[in-house]
Amino acid sequence: MSELVDKIIRNDRISFEEALDIIHTFSTLEIGQLATLRKKIIDPSNNVSFVVDTNPNYTNICDTECLFCAFWRKKSSKDSYLLSVDKVVEIVKTSYHNGATTVLLQGGHNPDIELNYYLEIIQRVIKEVPGIHLHAFSAPEISSIAKYTKQETQEILKKFWELGLRTIPGGGAEVLNNDIRKKISPLKISADEWMKITEEAHHIGFKTTATMMFGHAESDNDIVEHLQRIRDLQDETKNFLSFIPWTFKPENTFMENKISTEVGGDRYLRVLGLCRIFLDNFKYIQGSWFTQGFKVGGVSLHYGANDVGGTLLQENVLKSANNPYKAGIDEIVHVITSEGFIPIQRDTFYNTIKKY
Ligand code: SF4
Repeated sequence: MSELVDKIIRNDRISFEEALDIIHTFSTLEIGQLATLRKKIIDPSNNVSFVVDTNPNYTNICDTECLFCAFWRKKSSKDSYLLSVDKVVEIVKTSYHNGATTVLLQGGHNPDIELNYYLEIIQRVIKEVPGIHLHAFSAPEISSIAKYTKQETQEILKKFWELGLRTIPGGGAEVLNNDIRKKISPLKISADEWMKITEEAHHIGFKTTATMMFGHAESDNDIVEHLQRIRDLQDETKNFLSFIPWTFKPENTFMENKISTEVGGDRYLRVLGLCRIFLDNFKYIQGSWFTQGFKVGGVSLHYGANDVGGTLLQENVLKSANNPYKAGIDEIVHVITSEGFIPIQRDTFYNTIKKY
């Protein structure tokens, strides 16, 4: 164990097996101390960033029917919806006037939407609301758009790039293991496909984030496999902006009765700390006040997190799973300062907008 601790202190890269060793044998406090050490080497500042953003969804109609998702609806459902392009642009404008600098736009996989809808959204948001950054369309959406329009994912990505889209959210990664995905989202793209589309996006020039949603069917081995795939791609492209691990919310999903307990603070912090120690090529790791609440969100800053994500002026996906957590700038600033850090409002590329 002490040899492994020395490796982390020297900032040496740790292996797959060593990652398993950490999660199996180290105490939660030890993981926090080592994650903090690693974080200080990678980012010596005392800053913790956040972004003022909004997270609208253009449609909840989805043919992928993930078992962990409480948000999707069939087209025939009475509360299904598809927003018009005008409505999406109006939401973005309102969010901008409410202070948002980023709009994280995602939606269900809706076979009725034509390619033009997405192209028009990109064109109009960039032209009509230049003060806001459009961060849109995750890898599984790109895959569905390609499937419905009978094009290659790379072609879709190139079209989006030509219109000025520059960043893509890292959603839909869940746990990047093909067997796990068959259990929780059998109709969704495989882990290999998620990696392929993300790699294509990086090679075109897009910056993306990487996410991991855990606390469902995965083992520790699966988590480390996920981290290994992400670390390898970051070595190659360096186009991941940050890593965002968060926990599964089972309420109102098909998996609600299969999960005996939701991931609690201890497990969350252990996995978060492991992410920081393993992902030695990521500057930003996000702590999740949003799924873990403010108390654990604050403690996450002592487990390697140096970003707390967005204010999420509008959010529908986890609201469908009865997630109770909401925050404004004041609350986020308070959480960060209470833990002894300096709050930094940032943009989508992690540039500083304002220091508090
Ligand atoms: S997670 Fe996304 S792809 Fe899966 S059912 Fe929900 S909206 Fe559809």
